[in-house]
Amino acid sequence: MPEENHPRNEPHFPPCRAMDTVRIAVIAAGVIGLSTAVCISQLVPQCSITIVSEKFTPHTTSDVAAGILIPHEYPDTPIFTQKRWFRETFDHLSSLASSAEAVDAGVHLLSG
Ligand SMILES: Cc1cc2nc3c(=O)[nH]c(=O)nc-3n(C[C@H](O)[C@H](O)[C@H](O)COP(=O)(O)OP(=O)(O)OC[C@H]3O[C@@H](n4cnc5c(N)ncnc54)[C@H](O)[C@@H]3O)c2cc1C
Repeated sequence: MPEENHPRNEPHFPPCRAMDTVRIAVIAAGVIGLSTAVCISQLVPQCSITIVSEKFTPHTTSDVAAGILIPHEYPDTPIFTQKRWFRETFDHLSSLASSAEAVDAGVHLLSG
């Protein structure tokens, strides 16, 4: 897709030939770095991802302080985009919570 036609805030990777192996480095190993690496691996069919970081689990902030899914409002992002992000995140976590991976993933629904 030409750059000028690509929606803002959506990841964009240039097309690559079938036999290319794209080598990608993700810097950081908290929830953002690891989620980014997973998303790239799903979006770029043939790629090799290396995560470079000062600290890895269990020594990141994310290991201890990313516990509760709470909606926040960000003034520079359209509200419908924020609602879509929250809905997608909630649906993903909700499906993890009801899966066999819930305990390993540490994802639970709590009241209160
Ligand atoms: C007390 C507290 C409570 C919180 N509660 C919640 C909550 O309930 N719900 C929620 O959603 N969020 C919560 N947060 C926020 C949440 O923890 C962060 O938004 C989230 O963990 C950030 O993830 P991250 O991957 O960006 O950063 P981090 O988890 O900090 O990871 C950063 C990574 O980058 C690496 N790094 C940093 N600098 C360099 C460098 N120069 N070179 C190489 N690597 C580097 C680090 O080693 C680490 O691997 C809380 C935060 C705090 C402090």
